[in-house]
Amino acid sequence: MPEEIIHAAGMVPIRLTGDSQEPALEEANAYMYINTCSFVRSCLDLVLRNQYHFLDGFVSAATCDCPRRLTDVWKHYDFTPFVHIVDVPRKMTKSAHDLYHNEVQGLKDRLEGFFDVEITDEALRQTIKVFNRTRELLKELYDLRKSDCPPITGAEVLEVLNAGFKMPREEFNGLLERLVGEASSGQRAVKGKFRLMINGSPLNNPEFVKTIEDLGGLVVVDELCTGVRHWWDLVDDSPEIDPVEALSRRYLNNFPCPRMFPPEERFNRALQLVKDYRVDGVVSEVVRYCVHCAHDQPLLRRRLEIQGVPVLELSIEYGASGTGQIMTRVQAFLEMLEGRARR
Ligand code: SF4
Repeated sequence: MPEEIIHAAGMVPIRLTGDSQEPALEEANAYMYINTCSFVRSCLDLVLRNQYHFLDGFVSAATCDCPRRLTDVWKHYDFTPFVHIVDVPRKMTKSAHDLYHNEVQGLKDRLEGFFDVEITDEALRQTIKVFNRTRELLKELYDLRKSDCPPITGAEVLEVLNAGFKMPREEFNGLLERLVGEASSGQRAVKGKFRLMINGSPLNNPEFVKTIEDLGGLVVVDELCTGVRHWWDLVDDSPEIDPVEALSRRYLNNFPCPRMFPPEERFNRALQLVKDYRVDGVVSEVVRYCVHCAHDQPLLRRRLEIQGVPVLELSIEYGASGTGQIMTRVQAFLEMLEGRARR
């Protein structure tokens, strides 16, 4: 979902990330089948608990059946005056691009008509610069995590990303600039026994990552749609390209999510991250009933293991904080890494 279109209309795009704790989901379960992923039910649960009462509209992407069904419920119960769904192809072919370009243009036209605003090319170009600045700053922050003792933990990075989903972007960029400046000063160095990557379904509970880090693993990078898959690629801001075209190209060709086909591009990028960030092991969290991740994970796992990178697979409910059984499994994984290091 190209947030820039909303920002260029003079509005504030807020990303729905559901609850950052594991909610009971009693309310949401009354509206959606429980085999809908708990990420989507968590978002619905917050709506039903009146936590998104400040929203004027809801724009969803038809990435899989779960957000589609959430959009149906949203529309049926009129949670916000404006509701729109953007179709997103699974391939990156020429016809897929044409289709997606029409979808992005359709969102722009609907926003303009519904809210009686004009989204000019100039506003879009300006917005693209603001959002690209976020991406550059996050890249700088992530680059600092490549060092032996990074200045920031994985749990803290997740807090930063969460803030970015919910704040006016210009304000977030200002804070991020300060953070990157402080983190680059060399005054803080975090040491972990092992360098880990987290990948899988959306994740927004810093407590989950903190549990892993408290046990001795340091999360130095992720491959998540709430992490690198969200911000990695820049939008082409050259003056000769039409801004809607630039946005639709970037969002379709972006660091792919497990729903995209063929999956090789994503696997290659994930393996490159493992190399660049000198990852010792991967913790893969798959939210229950997230079919895309569940189907894709064994294929990625095989590629990682061929490279000698062990993977811990965890099937969790969205928002899980990493207590109980998860903690035991992470502990056993870290012990296994320790055993390998001693050999
Ligand atoms: S991709 Fe997975 S986590 Fe995301 S909405 Fe679909 S099923 Fe849920």
